[in-house]
Amino acid sequence: MSEVTSENCTHDCSTCGANCSSRQPESFLKALNPYSKVRKVIAVVSGKGGVGKSLVTSMLAAEMQRRGHRCAVLDADITGPSIPKSFGIHEHATGTEEFLIPVTTHSGIQIMSINLILENETEPVVWRGPVIAGAVTQFWTDVVWSDVDYMFVDMPPGTGDVPLTVFQSLPIDGVIIVTTPQDLVSMIVAKAVNMASMMNVPVLGMVENMSYFVCPDCGKKHEIFGESRAQAVADSFGIPQVAKIPIDPVITTMVDAGEVEHVSGEFVSDLVDSLEKNLPAREEE
Ligand code: ADP
Repeated sequence: MSEVTSENCTHDCSTCGANCSSRQPESFLKALNPYSKVRKVIAVVSGKGGVGKSLVTSMLAAEMQRRGHRCAVLDADITGPSIPKSFGIHEHATGTEEFLIPVTTHSGIQIMSINLILENETEPVVWRGPVIAGAVTQFWTDVVWSDVDYMFVDMPPGTGDVPLTVFQSLPIDGVIIVTTPQDLVSMIVAKAVNMASMMNVPVLGMVENMSYFVCPDCGKKHEIFGESRAQAVADSFGIPQVAKIPIDPVITTMVDAGEVEHVSGEFVSDLVDSLEKNLPAREEE
């Protein structure tokens, strides 16, 4: 084999073993199929399950869609997929030998989730990490995502192997961290922030879910877990935007009824403003 010189360098380090000064770190990013177009990808992460990550993912997608953007949700939470149910979707995704077609919600959001493929949606997914990460990657590569402005990825909870692989495989433009007031006092947020920074992805915002409770009788706002520290914590990490969502039985009921698209977008409205501003989907057009 002839020696690689600056003259015959192809700039494709994946097919070349030369250890030269301009060698680029290996990229694990996977390409979309030729029928798909996705402009911006936002990962919604949490330190652990059950904090409302799927709710926030759905609310952000619904609010963006209401504003006229074309949105999609890739449900990467393979072992706890709750996205289809919250949108009231129970049918199966269709496909060809090669590609899968996402299911579309009432307002037109494109959805792909393991629950749209399983024979029975209550079947548990008992796969090992690499298989789960492979399924998520296929949701990116083998689904026909039709002209999407904003894709929201409901990430697997935590900062382990599976979220790490997803981070490396998808071209994520930014991260939203979802926490509860209790998690803010632990190291959970710091871990999520550090993971994003290791991946060179900006943290675009933080959502404190179950932040407060509004008494239905007197309308008084109660911070049941103590005075919110969300803004202080966000400031300490340089996170530009904070949203707070109250704990509200109406939200639970709407999600259970598959009506997450009708949950009020006011709680995430400022966050969505800032996503539109800092991550414009069609700046080049
Ligand atoms: P995660 O994706 O983090 O596991 P989910 O979004 O699935 O969490 O939320 C877990 C449960 O809590 C769901 O039934 C959801 O409807 C409910 N829930 C989440 N946030 C709220 C809230 N602010 N008010 C009421 N119920 C909520």
